[in-house]
Amino acid sequence: MAYEEPITDYDEIVENCTCAFCGCNCDDLTYLIKDGHVVGVRHACRLGASKVMEDMDQRLLVPMIRNEEGDLVEADWDTALDKAAELIAGGAVRPVFYGWSETSIETMKHGIKLGELVGAVLDNQATICHGPSLQAVQNAGYPVNTLGEVKNRADMIVYSGNNAMNSHPRHLGRYSAFPRGYFRKRGRFDKTIVTMDPRYTDTAKMSDIWVGFEQNGDYEFYNAMRAVLRGKKLKKDVISGIPKEDIEELVEAMKTTQYGSLFFGLGLTHTLSKQRNIDIAINLIQDLNKFTKWNLVPMRGHFNVNGFNIFMAFEMGFPYGVDFSRGYPRYMNGETNTIDLLTREEPDVFMVIAADPGAHFPGGANRHLANIPVIQIDIHWGGPSTELADIVLPGSFIGVEAAGTSYRMDGVPIYMKKAIDKPETCRDDEWIVRELHERVQKIKGSKIASK
Ligand code: SF4
Repeated sequence: MAYEEPITDYDEIVENCTCAFCGCNCDDLTYLIKDGHVVGVRHACRLGASKVMEDMDQRLLVPMIRNEEGDLVEADWDTALDKAAELIAGGAVRPVFYGWSETSIETMKHGIKLGELVGAVLDNQATICHGPSLQAVQNAGYPVNTLGEVKNRADMIVYSGNNAMNSHPRHLGRYSAFPRGYFRKRGRFDKTIVTMDPRYTDTAKMSDIWVGFEQNGDYEFYNAMRAVLRGKKLKKDVISGIPKEDIEELVEAMKTTQYGSLFFGLGLTHTLSKQRNIDIAINLIQDLNKFTKWNLVPMRGHFNVNGFNIFMAFEMGFPYGVDFSRGYPRYMNGETNTIDLLTREEPDVFMVIAADPGAHFPGGANRHLANIPVIQIDIHWGGPSTELADIVLPGSFIGVEAAGTSYRMDGVPIYMKKAIDKPETCRDDEWIVRELHERVQKIKGSKIASK
């Protein structure tokens, strides 16, 4: 890696900023500011720093509307908002508002009001990532702990189906393996790190134990651990590619530790048994608690993907895929999730906020998106999503240009403060969604009055 000169050319320092990238929500960042732009970031990992020091070439700066020739052309805010409101209010029967994981809870509040008003479906990225975890939590419970508890208490940490070193680069350094905690004064020397993953990942290389079970062998492996924990003898010599003696040894270490924490990722939620993998991981944690203290935390990706699920569950009773079309909130997996709705070609208006379905959804879902009006609220030219959008409303960067609340992967709310002003032509996400709500309300009110 090339040595980079420290940045010395800046005129302002803002401390205690929060990274708006992954679910670690690191809130110890320092921004170096020059001429109203962040030119350097201290304490962040490369992922976080590269996001905060945004590439202005990719920045969406003005509202745009697609013309009849198929080109996005610049429009003023009033025209773009009125057109978006007309699309939402003007006869749409199955609007879907998707995304929300990279914006603030304050913006979501107005999104729920708008969704209730027009009978929309509100859904977020959990539908393609930790949805199985949310289902499992409803089935089996949620023995979660905070990252602070992990830092101060845990002496055994398990990473299952995730490669934190690449996806959440400061997780091991700030919360789990390396920090010195109140009861773990020697940091890494007081902790045993285990990685359970078919791949020998960078996280596995940093670990004391690597359990490389077979692809899709998660459920069988967890089941074997639970059997051993309950005093059963394993009949097979090798389970999911792991010798039974190794499983017995691992279980013995897990039950004799003082405080354990298991972090699981999409490698567990998206292999063959899906939410049943998480069910059994939760059951394993519950079994371990008969011997010692154990908890688990999902490794959430976007910095506020957990926030949407917590906020929706608190406000509406359901964590994602919430359908207001009957006048009350309803949630049914496989029925009210964005991909299912799109592949059944049900939505007739789609609003995407702070997400890129064009890059992440399957072809069938994107095909339908290409056939219906799409409204995009985002800060960057979101690749395929902007190409699909009919109206583009440029928002602002939470945690850099706008303040807002987010929820960390462990459910701890974090207030993200503003450090610089947004570009003059952009608006805060919260303002945009509130404006849309007010304009849709007016259109609906005048329609009722004219009947
Ligand atoms: S670990 Fe995540 S939240 Fe922390 S600085 Fe890196 S990308 Fe940002």
